[in-house]
Amino acid sequence: MLKNDLLETWDRENFFHPSTHLAEFARGEAPQRVITGGKGCHIEDREGNRLLDAFAGLYCVNAGYGRPEIAEAIADQARELAYYHAYVGHGTEASITLAKMILDRAPDHMSKVYFGLSGSDANETNIKLIWYYNNILGRPEKKKIISRWRGYHGSGLMTGSLTGLELFHKKFDLPLSQVIHTEAPYYFRRPDFAMSEADFTAHCAAELEALIEREGADTIAAFIGEPVLGTGGIVPPPAGYWEAIQAVLDRHDILLIADEVVTGFGRLGSMFGSEHYGLKPDLITIAKGLTSAYAPLSGSIVSDKMWKVLEQGTDENGPIGHGWTYSAHPIGAAAGVANLKLIDDLGLIANASETGGYFRAAMVAALGEHAQVGEIRGEGMLCALEFVADRETRQFYDPADKVGPRIAAALASEGVIGRAMPQGDILGFAPPLCLTREEADTIVAATEKAVRAVL
Ligand code: PLP
Repeated sequence: MLKNDLLETWDRENFFHPSTHLAEFARGEAPQRVITGGKGCHIEDREGNRLLDAFAGLYCVNAGYGRPEIAEAIADQARELAYYHAYVGHGTEASITLAKMILDRAPDHMSKVYFGLSGSDANETNIKLIWYYNNILGRPEKKKIISRWRGYHGSGLMTGSLTGLELFHKKFDLPLSQVIHTEAPYYFRRPDFAMSEADFTAHCAAELEALIEREGADTIAAFIGEPVLGTGGIVPPPAGYWEAIQAVLDRHDILLIADEVVTGFGRLGSMFGSEHYGLKPDLITIAKGLTSAYAPLSGSIVSDKMWKVLEQGTDENGPIGHGWTYSAHPIGAAAGVANLKLIDDLGLIANASETGGYFRAAMVAALGEHAQVGEIRGEGMLCALEFVADRETRQFYDPADKVGPRIAAALASEGVIGRAMPQGDILGFAPPLCLTREEADTIVAATEKAVRAVL
């Protein structure tokens, strides 16, 4: 560990932190924490605090911290061959093996995987592939992309536009004009509280269809959605939602991108969210859990249907003009191979379902009746608490009340990291998939203390 009394000062003076209130940070008013180590579900900071990381970093360290199997695979790869590119037919043993392992786990109708580095660049790739696809098919007008309010798809120019959260648009001149948003499948915040879940599902599908008809189906290329809304509040869809949405998309010949950056590789207790909810996507976005964040790597899994057109496109136009220097980086690929093996060997997907279910049930037992807890929800190893000023009337808090950040801070002082989701009144949990029942009990006890201390 670097011993340096100046580290915190250097941090403030030199480091531009993402998604951070820059002025508060500079003034020393925002949290500052230097992380030095991690093992299993725990991390350690420079002050010597040991914290239970109940958000797995940014829901990505799925296999848990300090796994020697992944660390050694990375070191071996770096010694053997740290880098070679993947352009014009080049590959490495690791990247080719990983592509095969991903396809073996993906739905049967998927055909190839294109590697990137982050969830954001994988979604940028997806949109370019879709535009290319429609141009090859002679439909140059079919280009708009529908996303949902509260969706999160990254923070590039296009992906920040697809993201349906105001924070990611404000003062950036986003969204771009090719992006349109539709209703979030957020039953707790349904427009009319008298609506049944089935009626709300029908309402979401009808809103989507009306939007498509208003814009013209011949102008709309694709719909993008996370199987379970993540950053927008950890919101599983209402019953029948994906079936209803898929039917609308099929009727209008609109492609489906399943953004599985969070849900891919086990978080919902299934290999993919697409499998969990019976989706038939044309593209699947993967990142985070692909390497359990031991190295940056993402991917776009492409369906047979799209692949055939892409091949035809290169026969007509030459090589596909899209690539990153670090596409299929061997170190990321080696981490991915070791990580996917570990997920199988340790039975982490079954644990996400079993311990995740235990964790949510324990949270409901502890806080389900609290007057300011409006809803406790989740799926697999995902859980969220949504706080309300009044439970009967479902009066929401003003974001300025900072209820989520205050509870997250109280929770951290109990030794547990949860995440105040960006809209302010939701506390999210996405622990590593190796969470034990004892660790789940610790998170629940600390959350109960933190919530009762703040509300
Ligand atoms: N898509 C989803 C569903 C995500 O949750 C995220 C990140 O949280 C992204 C895309 C963007 O991934 P990245 O931050 O690696 O660019």
